[in-house]
Amino acid sequence: MELNERQTEILEIVKYNGPITGEQIAERLGLARATIRPDLAILTMAGFLEARPRVGYFYSGKKPMQSMADEMIEMKVGDFQSLPVVVTETMTVYDAICHMFLEDVGTLFVVNGNRQLSGVISRKDLLRTSIGGNDLTTIPTSVVMTRMPNIAYCQKKDTLLSAAKQMIDRQIDALPVVERVNGAFEVVGRITKTNITAAFVALAEEYDL
Ligand code: ADP
Repeated sequence: MELNERQTEILEIVKYNGPITGEQIAERLGLARATIRPDLAILTMAGFLEARPRVGYFYSGKKPMQSMADEMIEMKVGDFQSLPVVVTETMTVYDAICHMFLEDVGTLFVVNGNRQLSGVISRKDLLRTSIGGNDLTTIPTSVVMTRMPNIAYCQKKDTLLSAAKQMIDRQIDALPVVERVNGAFEVVGRITKTNITAAFVALAEEYDL
């Protein structure tokens, strides 16, 4: 939110002299109380100032909600991503299940022999295979994974909001964070619904909510 010159001046006055009445602020500015009424209303509504009856205005010290929204939109994948957990296409489903438990993740990313992203495996992909009476020690992950080019992914520079939106739209729990290398994707990170939840909580804490 852009403050005009007078609003910025009022904010400074209140910051260093508050609590201070509207009348006193107007006096310092050499203006009538009525003239600055809309500015005080804007500053109060935006959360920059707080007003107490019979006390006056004081600087809230809180960042206004608008800047919280701005900050939320600015959050980038690269600042919130986790380490990716990657398996090979030839790893068996049995080993992939063990890996998922050991690494304590819900999604595994699959890479080919050139370490390029080729698939994604979720918990339900592994469960589906497990209840089919298959020999899990012989089926490779490449058979059960969701494969390229159907993989939803993101990059470090993308906004966290766009990553969250992809997960909701596609009804999935995680996105690989990728870097394009020679026309293919290298997996450099992982964004999950947990990362989004953590970012949401961190933002609220920053604003004392
Ligand atoms: P779960 O299957 O454990 O509920 P998800 O909702 O993440 O976990 O996965 C649902 C389906 O979507 C699975 O078949 C999985 O392979 C696939 N999937 C998961 N993540 C992605 C992704 N980033 N891009 C494309 N498909 C994905």
